[in-house]
Amino acid sequence: MIKAVVFDIGNVLLHFDWQNYLERNFPDPDVRKELAESVFLSKEWQEGDRVDMPLEQWQQRYIDNAPHLEKEIRQICSNLPDLFSVFPYTEDWIDSMHKSGYKVYFLSNFCRAAYEQAQELISFTKLMDGGLFSFQEGLTKPDPAFYMLLCERYDLKPEELFFYDDLKENVEAAMQVGMQGVTVTNEMMEKESAWYGMTTGGKDKMLKVVKFGGSSLASSGQFHKVKDIIEYEDSRRYVIPSAPGKRDSNDTKVTDLLYRCYAYAKKGKDYKSVIAQIRLRYEQIIDELGLDISLDDDFRKIEEYVLKDDSRDFIASRGEYLNGKILAAYLNIDFIDAADIICFTSKGDYEPRATKELVKAALANHERAVIPGFYGADKSGKVHTFSRGGSDITGAIIAGAIGADMYENWTDVSGVLVADPTVVEDPAPIEVITYRELRELSYMGAAVLHEDAIFPVKEAGIPINIRNTNRPKDRGTMIVEMTCWPSPYVMTGVAGKKGFVGISIEKERMNDIVGYCRSVLDVFAKYDINIEHMPSGIDTMSVFVHQHEFLKKEQKVLADIQEAVAIDHLELESDVALIAVVGRGMRSMRGTAGRVFAALANANVNIRMIDQGSSELNIIIGVHSQDFESAIRAIYNAFVGPKKS
Ligand code: ASP
Repeated sequence: MIKAVVFDIGNVLLHFDWQNYLERNFPDPDVRKELAESVFLSKEWQEGDRVDMPLEQWQQRYIDNAPHLEKEIRQICSNLPDLFSVFPYTEDWIDSMHKSGYKVYFLSNFCRAAYEQAQELISFTKLMDGGLFSFQEGLTKPDPAFYMLLCERYDLKPEELFFYDDLKENVEAAMQVGMQGVTVTNEMMEKESAWYGMTTGGKDKMLKVVKFGGSSLASSGQFHKVKDIIEYEDSRRYVIPSAPGKRDSNDTKVTDLLYRCYAYAKKGKDYKSVIAQIRLRYEQIIDELGLDISLDDDFRKIEEYVLKDDSRDFIASRGEYLNGKILAAYLNIDFIDAADIICFTSKGDYEPRATKELVKAALANHERAVIPGFYGADKSGKVHTFSRGGSDITGAIIAGAIGADMYENWTDVSGVLVADPTVVEDPAPIEVITYRELRELSYMGAAVLHEDAIFPVKEAGIPINIRNTNRPKDRGTMIVEMTCWPSPYVMTGVAGKKGFVGISIEKERMNDIVGYCRSVLDVFAKYDINIEHMPSGIDTMSVFVHQHEFLKKEQKVLADIQEAVAIDHLELESDVALIAVVGRGMRSMRGTAGRVFAALANANVNIRMIDQGSSELNIIIGVHSQDFESAIRAIYNAFVGPKKS
């Protein structure tokens, strides 16, 4: 597990811009070129980082390189602080890392002269837990001995360290000794530190779209919390509510009641009592919040529409609509009906372009507003909804359209978890995850966000921050396109699904037969069976499909395969569970697969399939369904270990 981060200093935490300095001070380009070569690009400069020497001696070596520029070289060497400036994000990064529980060190190629003159500029090193300057140790990066000395000095293990440098060769050397690492640019660091500023209070005036899920707005008590959250930060300007969710595990979501109401009306069953039940929920919230609003007209309309044909979406949308009206009144801000700005075609497909224009135009007139999630309307005004959980999509659309700095999605968990909490007890939360990693995990069953909610914000480069309404101080999970944030456990998360069948086919010299695999796959396509995974060997191929899809067509599929290609041996394995171990950190870390297999062997789990994606972002393992839980737990424990105290 990653316990500490190690920073390079120059151009990671401290801007070292000698070109700019030369330009500012020496108008003649020829002089600049000569100074660059005889000072900054010279081998003496590099040596100066490794060999401790006083200023006079250090500077004399450059003068020897270009004696006719002695005056200029002396000027440079006695004004070294002018070459450096601290990045605005430097202290924030150190602070963020500490807040996340990491120790922070530096490992820097630095010379004595700069060290002595730039004391004030490098005062941020005092905020760190330690570090090494090369000139004091007689070693420089990328010499592995320098990295190992840091480990020794502070009693650290390389595999517990995450290393940042702007030079690739230095990062590679870090990986060689067993650390994780990333080559960074200051733009990357700057962008991410801004995100962290936003999760910890948003120092500057940002623009955030905040979506609250059903459980966050299930009762008046939850409304109080939501108000506190919104009012805590000026940046939280556009609020997207869901319909009231469950107040406890026996409760029913308002959206489910609305669907029930519509179904009862169609079947001639008693829908009126369901409407009364829904009304009661809203009235109770209104009363307890002490608001003076009437829902008479709204419920009259519901009674009228529920008897009409084709009004299912309209009825379902009232959950969000009414909750939005109440929330706007409670927050005392404007209410915008989503039907006026979220566009659908008459067939019910979402229309992104028209929506974007309308959203931008409408919000320009509202400094703050509540916009209900989950629905929109077509040109004739008919309401359409997204699929279930679709308020997430509305939030993402609004954030994307107005180019928000962040999309906060408030729910009842403190972010995405490393593993399913029903399988692993109290799993660690994931602090930062990329869209791609999240996609892999959600595909394998980790339920977090509506899948379609990612696209509008991903496209606009807006991070999503998953937060917990019941624990607003938790930083939650940041979902981003790319990140230089350490992946603390090498693996970012583990998830899986049961219920697959593996069909393995063996044929000698399969590799030489053109179109062999294709003929097999065509059979699955013919029967409309989706292929989940397809690991292959030289003379074997395996196809993993959903058992429930396959069972009904099993005999036909097998017969067709036998007819399509010649087979030496065919084997079926049912009740397979697939588990994905996902992590951007796996690429830069040796032995990840080995750790997974050792963990499973120790837990007595037999591995029936292995498939490593070519992106090295995931390893997929097939195990028997009965081993599913123990396999997930074994993998979790191998990477995350016992609970972080
Ligand atoms: N209320 C809708 C549902 O339950 C949409 C949402 O909550 O996002 O599916």
